[in-house]
Parts: sequence; C-alpha cells; structure tokens
Amino acid sequence: MPTSEYLDAKIETATLKEVQKVQEAKLARQLDYLFARSLFYKEKFQAAGIGRKDYRRLRDLVRFPFTTKEELRESQAAQPPLGKHVAARLDDIIRVHSSTGTTGKPSFVGITRADARVWTATTARSFYTQGLRKSDIVIHAAGLTMFVAGLSSKDAIESIGAMFVPIGTGASEKALMAIQLLKATAMHCTPSYATYFAEWVRREAKLDPRELGLKKLFCGAEPGAGIPAVRAQLEEDWGARVTEGLGNADMAPILFGECTRQTGMHFCGQEYVLAEIVDPENGQSLPIEKGVGGELVYTSLERECVPLLRFRTRDRVTVLGTSCPCGRTSFRLRCIGRTDDMLIVLGVNVFPSAIRDIISSLHPRTTGEMRIVLEEPGPKVMPPLKIVVEHSAAPCNLAELKNEIEKRIKATLSIPCSVELVVAGTLPRYEMKGQLVKKVYENKGAV
Ligand SMILES: [Zn+2]
Repeated sequence: MPTSEYLDAKIETATLKEVQKVQEAKLARQLDYLFARSLFYKEKFQAAGIGRKDYRRLRDLVRFPFTTKEELRESQAAQPPLGKHVAARLDDIIRVHSSTGTTGKPSFVGITRADARVWTATTARSFYTQGLRKSDIVIHAAGLTMFVAGLSSKDAIESIGAMFVPIGTGASEKALMAIQLLKATAMHCTPSYATYFAEWVRREAKLDPRELGLKKLFCGAEPGAGIPAVRAQLEEDWGARVTEGLGNADMAPILFGECTRQTGMHFCGQEYVLAEIVDPENGQSLPIEKGVGGELVYTSLERECVPLLRFRTRDRVTVLGTSCPCGRTSFRLRCIGRTDDMLIVLGVNVFPSAIRDIISSLHPRTTGEMRIVLEEPGPKVMPPLKIVVEHSAAPCNLAELKNEIEKRIKATLSIPCSVELVVAGTLPRYEMKGQLVKKVYENKGAV
C-alpha cells in the first residue's frame, strides 16, 4: 500500500491496542488538567462523588458522568461569556466559534493555539481520507464565519497543500464562476446544497452540472450524503464521487471521514478524541462492533479551552465495520440522524432520513423532495404519519405512486403513513441544511 494512501500512516494503520495505549496515557493527562483547571468538572465530579484516583485504565472512563449540551448552555449562562467549562485563560484563546443552536442564543466554543492544531489535524485527516489531495482545487460552498467547519476546513485543506476557494453559502453564481474559471476539482458543502446547486445550475445557467468537471464532493453537517438513494442521485447529478464527513460543533469540526471505498466514515480522531457508542436509553457503553447502533459520545484527550468528558452528541450512528480494504484500522459508521429528530410511531423509532431514503429510491417518479408533517410536537406521532412527497413533472399514475410509497414505508419501517403528492418544485429548497420535517403546530395561531 503506498503511503500516499494515508496522511498519518502510523496512527491510521495502528492496531486498536496501540491506539488505546496512546489514549489511556493522554486521558490520564487530560483528567489531571480537568481536576486542576476546570471549575465545571471540579463541581461535577464532586457531585458525582468521583475522584482522580478513580481513573487508572481506559476502561475506568465509564465510571465518570456524561456531559450534556444543556449543561454547557447553563454553564455559559452562569458564567458569561464562555462558561464555567472553559479551562484556558481568556488571553490564551485565539478564536471563538459558535454552534448552530436552535434555541436562538449562540453557544460559543473557544480554542487555544494548541486546540486549533488538533482541529486542523483531525479535519485534514478526514479530508485526506475522503480522497482530497494536494492537486485539488476545492470550492468551499458551506458556512465560513462562526460555523466550526468553516475556517477549520480552510486550515485543514491548506495544510494538505490543496487550493481552498472560500465561497461560503448563498452564493451560487460565485460558486459557478469559480468552478469554471479555476477548473475546480472538488466541492465541500452540505448534501442539501449539492442537490440545490445542481438544480440551480440546470435552471439558471442552462448547464449540465456534470460538464463542470467536479470529481469529488465532500459532504457533511447533515446525514443526506450517506443515504444510499440520495448519494446515487448526487453522483448522477454531478458525475462526481460523493463521500461524507462528520463532526460536532462542541468537540471538533470534523472527526470522521469516509474513504474512497465509500463504505461508511472512518474515525479520524484516534489520538485526540476518544469515541464511545452508548445506549441512548440507559447510557450503557456498547462495544464498537459491526452492527452496533447507538449514540456517539466523545471525550477530548488533549483539549485546553473546552475539555469535555463523555459528551453526549445526540448523533445516532450505526457501526458498519472495524476493518477496511483501504488498510485503515479505525471503525466505520453511518450517522442516521439526531436524537432530536427521531419520531416514534406506534412504538417504532423512525428517523426522517430513513423515510427520505425510500422516497429518493423512487426517483425519477419522485423528485426526492419530501416533508413529514407534524401537527403536534414529537417524538410521539399519532398514526398515520403524514408525508408530503413531490412527484416529477413527467406523467405517471399518481394513485399508483401514492399507494406504492405507502406500501414501501409500511414494509420497510413497519409504520402506517398517508402520502400527499404535490407537483415538482412545490416544496421549498434549502441551501444550508435540508428540512425533512414541517412543524405545523409552530405556526398555529399565527395569521
Ligand atoms: Zn477505508
């Protein structure tokens, strides 16, 4: 295997034991740091009745309590501007980002110079794993400003030596011009934007996106690119290979990257972050083995500004394997959605991404666009689940299509649903993250 396959060959091909040895030692130092520097954790550990001596081996980590996003929010409110959980001195912090919260108030994440180096390293490893090389010209058509994976992607892509083109969001004309004039080879964006932009190029520029010559699409920030039917459509639209990455605004911009074999995202944080998968109901740590599903939990191993222990990401993932023909030894997974997105219909857990997969698989009769309509706040939904689906402009038997979608969802997900078909172009498109659920109850009372 040529070493150019890997950015950091030694750690990417190390055995699990070798990686764990590094993690065990680093976690000991991170805990020393927490007990010495973090007011948030000092209080938390005291309340949990746990001390530094309780950690000796890696397996002792499960004795420590989880950290949740709500705790970080409360900590920031209690001690502004950055929160009690900040363990670095303010003048050692070189940059702040914020996570895209849904609650309105930004949730800040600061980094020191050393933290920035770690972010660059994991982000670069993820891009390299996805097939980014020095010769690539990358259109960054994703958030650039407060978004954690904006400037961090710039640093990472530049560190590989590739050319970074900072387009940002909502700038399709600029993106198209840059792709054409610079002869770009790759694009980094959300899968929703890749879909939107392909439609835009056909409609506004009267061009076939395939003619633009992009060879690699690096997608992230939402699950779409890992949904088989959505991926197939994107690859067809662009004539490019689609891979995806996954990160977390509170831990690191990108921590997973799918290799060019396209069999799920490899963990790329080996010596920087420890990943656990836990049962979302009872919090029990699960073995990282093929077929295991649960919530992703992160522990930082050498973070200065925001060291986090057992941070609950709310990302629901499935482990696809622990080896790969590419030679990387880190586990591979697929993210199926966030706990917050999950719906429960007749006791069955349903992620909107699973519904979208079924709708997209009926392309070209459907456009792939759909919305689940919620009359009341979830996660429990009174059956049948209401879904609005766009059918394509080409003539087809609509009654048959409606029937087929309802049957397929029932057969695949074991839930009853009622489908309303609407004509192509009816549902609003999103340039950033896609919306699969329409919450009707939020606008109730509004005129
Ligand atoms: Zn691989």
